[in-house]
Amino acid sequence: MSDATRENDVEDVVIVGSGPAGWTAAIYAARADLHPLCIVGVPKQNPAPVLPGGQLMLTTEVENYPGFPDGVTGPEMMMMFQKQAERFGSRVKGADVERCDFGARPMALHLSNGETIRTKSVIIATGATANWIGLDNELRLATNGGGVSACAVCDGALPVFRDKPLAVVGGGDTAMEEAAYLTKFASTVHIIHRRESLRASKTMQDRVLSAKNVQMHWNSTVIDVLGEDFITGLVLEDTVSGERSELPVNGLFVAIGHAPATEFLKDSGIAFDDSGYVSLPDGGSSATNLEGVFAAGDVADHVYRQAVTAAGMGCRAAIDAERWLSGH
Ligand code: NAP
Repeated sequence: MSDATRENDVEDVVIVGSGPAGWTAAIYAARADLHPLCIVGVPKQNPAPVLPGGQLMLTTEVENYPGFPDGVTGPEMMMMFQKQAERFGSRVKGADVERCDFGARPMALHLSNGETIRTKSVIIATGATANWIGLDNELRLATNGGGVSACAVCDGALPVFRDKPLAVVGGGDTAMEEAAYLTKFASTVHIIHRRESLRASKTMQDRVLSAKNVQMHWNSTVIDVLGEDFITGLVLEDTVSGERSELPVNGLFVAIGHAPATEFLKDSGIAFDDSGYVSLPDGGSSATNLEGVFAAGDVADHVYRQAVTAAGMGCRAAIDAERWLSGH
């Protein structure tokens, strides 16, 4: 069937999102002859850039994705994923989904360009975005590979961070996990938390606070990030005394939570878990609470959040969608 015919027709499967989960779902769906339509989003600022391709578009070097022994940049990797998906017939549309009518048969997706796409099944793979403090220099250095990151497991092992003083901002489980990971590489891990007690679980706290190279900065907030091309330090403010001080560091890992990209699912009937991520009630599959709607990647996973786990979930979602379609 030609694209032109299909445009006026009902899609078998629409994949919303263009990170590792979305492209992997597209590769599998395309190879199953489902001719997936991929809605890849449009660039925006929120407050760091959010680009089609997702969080990897802000990642300089990916060294932990199997199959790339010499590493690969995040944007390069996403280009390869897209190329592979297109090679098998996936079609790509640059728009945002603004609203979903999952109750209609076929379902309807209303796009930011005014179009309405009708489809039998949907795979939601819109990912999540890291929360940032919101400082100009923080966002500039995060965007330019200047040593500011929202993922220690992705970036912490890079040579630029080895044996250097590094900082983690946040007091939750993610911050503790990031800090624990960084203790293996850093000379010192400075944890900067805005209160005097941590939100993280007791086990995680004990593990991190007992490490020799961890230094806590209680009641502290980061009010500026120093460095032209690469981070050289932070300006901290004591939330009790208001006193300001400089802390020399060569890496900043912001771990103050993530927000799943679910705004367009508001009022769609999709169920969310307690943290606001798309709920997968079966656990063993990618099926959401709604018939014919599947989810994959960080939009439905606040625990692992890795490119390789997202890709695995994308594969499962495409197989689940294909089986659901053949049964309906
Ligand atoms: P979180 O629990 O919401 O913690 C966010 C932390 O960032 C809090 O300590 C918060 O401070 C701080 N914060 C928020 N906004 C800030 C700002 N603008 N400036 C400075 N600090 C700020 O998020 P998370 O750690 O990413 O965890 C999310 C969920 O995933 C949690 O349910 C967590 O238990 C779970 N998780 C589990 C594991 C695990 O089990 N292995 C690992 C990671 C995450 P306050 O404390 O003052 O609010």
